[in-house]
Amino acid sequence: MTQQYILDLLYLIGSITFVIGLKMLSGPQTARRGNLVAAFGMTVAILGTIFLYEDPHGNTSRETIKLGIIFGGLAIGTLVGWMTAKRVKMTAMPELVSLFNGMGGACAALISLLEFEHNVHDPMRIGIIMAGMIIGSVSFSGSIIAFMKLNGTLKKSLRLPNYNIINAVMLLLNVAAAVCITWSGTDQMHYVLLAFVLALAYGVMFVVPIGGADMPVVISLLNSFTGLAAAFGGFLYDNQVMLTGGILVGSAGTILTVAMCKAMNRPLFNVIFGAFGETASAGAGHSVQGSIKDISITDAAVLMNYSKKVVIVPGYGLAVAQAQHVIHELEMILEERGVQVKYAIHPVAGRMPGHMNVLLAESNVDYGKLVEMEEINPEFSSTDVVLVVGANDVVNPAAKTDPSSPIYGMPILDVENAHHIIVNKRSMNAGYAGIENELFYHTKTSMLFGDAKDALTKLVSELKSM
Ligand code: NDP
Repeated sequence: MTQQYILDLLYLIGSITFVIGLKMLSGPQTARRGNLVAAFGMTVAILGTIFLYEDPHGNTSRETIKLGIIFGGLAIGTLVGWMTAKRVKMTAMPELVSLFNGMGGACAALISLLEFEHNVHDPMRIGIIMAGMIIGSVSFSGSIIAFMKLNGTLKKSLRLPNYNIINAVMLLLNVAAAVCITWSGTDQMHYVLLAFVLALAYGVMFVVPIGGADMPVVISLLNSFTGLAAAFGGFLYDNQVMLTGGILVGSAGTILTVAMCKAMNRPLFNVIFGAFGETASAGAGHSVQGSIKDISITDAAVLMNYSKKVVIVPGYGLAVAQAQHVIHELEMILEERGVQVKYAIHPVAGRMPGHMNVLLAESNVDYGKLVEMEEINPEFSSTDVVLVVGANDVVNPAAKTDPSSPIYGMPILDVENAHHIIVNKRSMNAGYAGIENELFYHTKTSMLFGDAKDALTKLVSELKSM
């Protein structure tokens, strides 16, 4: 009794730390500590379960052999997770998140597979098991495909003819399999394994056709699936901390999905039924007519030095070049000269939600200078110079003008309304969506070619010499 009381208390502590940790993740100043707080809660919950949990039949993990296996698994998992997270580059973080998310889904699916045989006479529990297994499996295989797409192993979006219909049928088959197994009261494991394979296949089919710019939505949707699958595990074991953790991940993932859908202008219905990215191949071949003009470092420095207002648009290339510190230096020099400087933050700039916020926080850019898209867009018409650094899709006017473009409908930063536009990138290569950008050919645009860190460093020393 006392033991159960202590365990409940530990679960309560774990749940509270998850909520506090999640809250702290909402700001760059507290995010790192928030992660540690939640990790502490998770450690408390895991250790409590290992040493204090007793199932209704009196089974515990407190036998040497079981403890050996559990701690062996924990040690391997911790080592692999720690080393991977330490080594990963910031720009490869989304694929790592996708991979880790897939592991969560796989855990939920494996729990369901293992628990099926122990619960065959309880339809309610079998229903929970089937839900956890299907959602966890979809999340696992979908996340692995997302991982492969993000790291470039799977390059193209493979689309079978009528893939929307095929996906909808597969989804229905998954639901039907879960309902049949639950209602029939079968104890035949091979039916469950069949449903498992079907769910894995659906996860693959769900993510494979998705085009470039839609990946952020999918990753956060899969994240919410994993949370939901874990919450079903919490129901199954009557484990409050697992339930709380699962619900928090599920709801946070759902909120993020909705926010990303809004940012990408994709209805959630289309996301769920795999109808998005449909135009992806259509606009990819669209070529832009016109000529581009270069700008020298000196001319760019003069232009900015004599401006009243400069807006910097950071993108993925800023992260690749690791130019966050030098861009902050540029901002400070301009501010010292009386130029007002702001950063325009597009919700999907970079390769993960909040990528630019995290990157700029690393170099201690004042958070108040980071302005969200809706707020900054009306300001471009009163901006003297927009400096686009390593951003491409998020400033592509095709999103507003070309219905055949894969990013058509995605809200973008209206940088073309500024008086002058300077774009820094290394070449005329396309961005993530793989399409040309007519902004680079605009009469107001000048290209400052080169690696962002290199170009900005030269710009800073040019400004210092003025
Ligand atoms: P893009 O990928 O559209 O463009 C980045 C640009 O940076 C490229 O055109 C590249 O051009 C340039 N670049 C790369 N390295 C450097 C460097 N060292 N120095 C200077 N420039 C460099 O990035 P955006 O941020 O504009 O848009 C993000 C895209 O990624 C969107 O399509 C979004 O949907 C997608 N996405 C976003 C996710 C998110 O959650 N935020 C997740 C996954 C995808 P060049 O090679 O010529 O230098």
